Amino acid sequence: ISFASLNLAPELLKALDESGYTTPTPIQAQAIPVVLEGSDLMAGAQTGTGKTAAFTLPLLQKLLPLASSSASPARHPVRALILTPTRELAIQVEESVKTYAKHTPLRSLVVFGGVDIKSQTPTLMKGVEILVATPGRLLDHVEQRTVQLGQVQMLVLDEADRMLDMGFMPDLKRILALLPKQRQNLMFSATFSPEIKKLSEEFLTKPVLIEV
Ligand code: AMP
Repeated sequence: ISFASLNLAPELLKALDESGYTTPTPIQAQAIPVVLEGSDLMAGAQTGTGKTAAFTLPLLQKLLPLASSSASPARHPVRALILTPTRELAIQVEESVKTYAKHTPLRSLVVFGGVDIKSQTPTLMKGVEILVATPGRLLDHVEQRTVQLGQVQMLVLDEADRMLDMGFMPDLKRILALLPKQRQNLMFSATFSPEIKKLSEEFLTKPVLIEV
């Protein structure tokens, strides 16, 4: 199996080729077709399995038709929201997004707490299709009206088990309430606790279940 046989766009295949990745990992081979087809996904995958590319590649491909070169923020609303429990993971995920998106016009930004919120605002106001965020800082931006979430069509919860452990459930519920009801949801978790099962039932619609 190759990345090309997963029907990924040439722009993405080129970036993969430059990264030196030739073969999809098991989570990538299983998750990419499910996400491209439009289903919600519940994936059990540890760090190191290639889970980031498993959601980033199909997410970019789904957003490609929406990309335009216009600089107007109204034409670059956030279309995909990726939530992570920590700033380290947020930074790492956004680096992957940038790497795989490098031959596309799609823009991304990462926002996290612990730094001056003003430093993150200008790029956000210019408009990005893909926003990677920790929950608390995202809500700060919502309150300051520096981000609009009304056009989000894809939501990724990365390391959902850690998000629950860290007490982000109330923040997650507040964020979810701000998103359009019609959207695709992807959830990644290293463990399948009863709490994770409950979260997946609350946030996902008829998810395809993948475990690697
Ligand atoms: P992750 O589980 O997403 O944190 O990824 C673990 C590591 O595997 C990262 O350093 C990726 O750059 C790398 N990686 C992701 N996909 C592939 C692939 N298909 N082939 C080789 N390495 C990969």
